[in-house]
Amino acid sequence: MFDHLREKIRDVPDFPTPGVIFKDITTLLKDGPAFKEVIDTLVERYRQRGIDAVVAIESRGYIFGAPLAAALGVGLIPVRKMGKLPAETISATYELEYGKETVEMHRDAILPGQKVLIVDDLLATGGTANAAKSLVEQLGGKVEGFAFLIELTFLKGRDKLTGYDVFTMITY
Ligand code: IMP
Repeated sequence: MFDHLREKIRDVPDFPTPGVIFKDITTLLKDGPAFKEVIDTLVERYRQRGIDAVVAIESRGYIFGAPLAAALGVGLIPVRKMGKLPAETISATYELEYGKETVEMHRDAILPGQKVLIVDDLLATGGTANAAKSLVEQLGGKVEGFAFLIELTFLKGRDKLTGYDVFTMITY
């Protein structure tokens, strides 16, 4: 359905480490109509879903989450890497291929019962999205769904998000 957008994504071999083929979205972002189509598609999909806030994941999640939140007329809540948020935080730690990563959210970011949409550029193993989900749920928020531009299906990130609505526009 979005095959014309897939053509805008650039494969960069051996980045950030040898053997990895990095999906570079900057080639889509610099194409005005393509970027607009992504945002318009998200706005259309989530307009009637009663979303109270968009939770966007550092850092490329902000590129899509911020215009979406503004268009929906709801707030934007950043999930950040550990040590970046200035006020009191909650955290979630998850396993990477080598080592661990911790992400944080402000403790007062979400009120119990608020319905949130979690947004990032790409779903790989699902570790990052799952950590964002746990932050939302620690605060009593309700995850209405997840939206990603790209899904690397062979990494099975969707399996970590079973039971949730997961929308992706371009799959590999
Ligand atoms: P996961 O936690 O394994 O699902 O990895 C997803 C996170 O890694 C997202 O925040 C992405 O921005 C980032 N990521 C992983 N691989 C790529 C890639 O090929 N291109 C862009 N971002 C990537």
